[in-house]
Amino acid sequence: MSEHLHISPREAAAFEDFLRRARCVGIVTHTRPDGDAIGSSLALMHFVLSLGPDGPGCVLLLDGEAPDAVRFLFSDADRDRTRIHALDPAGTEAAAASCDLLAVLDMNRFSRAGGLEETLRRSDARKILVDHHLDPDRGQFDLAFSETAVSSTCELLFLILSQCPSVRENGLPGRCPDALLTGITTDTNNFANSVFGNTLESVSALLEAGADRDGILEHLYNEYPERRIRLMGHLLDRELIITGQGAALMVLDEATARSFGIREGETEGFVNLPLAIDRVKFSLFLRQDGDEYRVSIRSKRGWSANALATRYFSGGGHELASGGRIPLTGTLRSKEDVTALVLAHLEEYMSHEA
Ligand code: 5GP
Ligand code: MN
Repeated sequence: MSEHLHISPREAAAFEDFLRRARCVGIVTHTRPDGDAIGSSLALMHFVLSLGPDGPGCVLLLDGEAPDAVRFLFSDADRDRTRIHALDPAGTEAAAASCDLLAVLDMNRFSRAGGLEETLRRSDARKILVDHHLDPDRGQFDLAFSETAVSSTCELLFLILSQCPSVRENGLPGRCPDALLTGITTDTNNFANSVFGNTLESVSALLEAGADRDGILEHLYNEYPERRIRLMGHLLDRELIITGQGAALMVLDEATARSFGIREGETEGFVNLPLAIDRVKFSLFLRQDGDEYRVSIRSKRGWSANALATRYFSGGGHELASGGRIPLTGTLRSKEDVTALVLAHLEEYMSHEA
């Protein structure tokens, strides 16, 4: 039994104090933000704004748009406080420049910020980190909360917020519970992985604080476009390769994605499916994104998705869930080239680790 993670009131007071002393807080999260990135960002924004009319302003700085599945978390006012770098680089950088504190969520190093990486590097604002990935670059932050024994950044943020003086006095701001529970739900794949003792305790408290779990589940899992499920069927039926050593691989090129009308974010979670097969130890899902393939990796206990991602795909993440990329080159271009390369990596890695 692991020890429950505990954030002390003193640490949480330091966190609240950092925010209170700011004039404007810019919230930054990783590129291609997922439910945890968006949920934690909005929850922190609600908290900052709850510090009152004399408290700091707040802006959410995203590299790209939030996925459709979590749009329900945004009110019109939230949208007004959001800048999207991919759509408006100059406006986003100007907003970042007006912040004297940057709160960095759900990413372990600046290089995960996509188009906002340079903005982070250049900024002389103070910086705080709340994250649950391996190998955080703590040196870049004035205050860092980095824990891996939590389900998600949303859970860690909940543990911090619930010890903050203003929350101990007034409770969580009203819109925090849904935002936080959304990120916990998506990062655990609806409580299938990364669930700790803390996690269920935190969720219990969020439900008591008013989180609408049924509504969240409806938005997250029952409102997909039909094309997603059609593509899922196609990939599982026609494209899934399983090696003799138990590595599963699905590769999606742009032509196929286009023929199904698939958009960014609509293949989220596909990587998990082959893990349901008994002999599968690793599952890899690759999706072409212009001149690179993005790699998603999941593994079963005893096999390190993180090791595979760091060794072969310039990536990282968590022990059992990681990601990375394969840049396309002159000689590495087609889906078949990429498939052959990945199969060779898997063969090498699994022969040594077996
Ligand atoms: P996903 O497969 O859901 O895109 O990502 C799984 C995990 O791997 C996430 O925790 C994510 O932060 C991490 N990850 C995904 N892509 C990259 C990457 O290119 N670099 C690093 N360092 N981590 C990544
Ligand atoms: Mn996360």
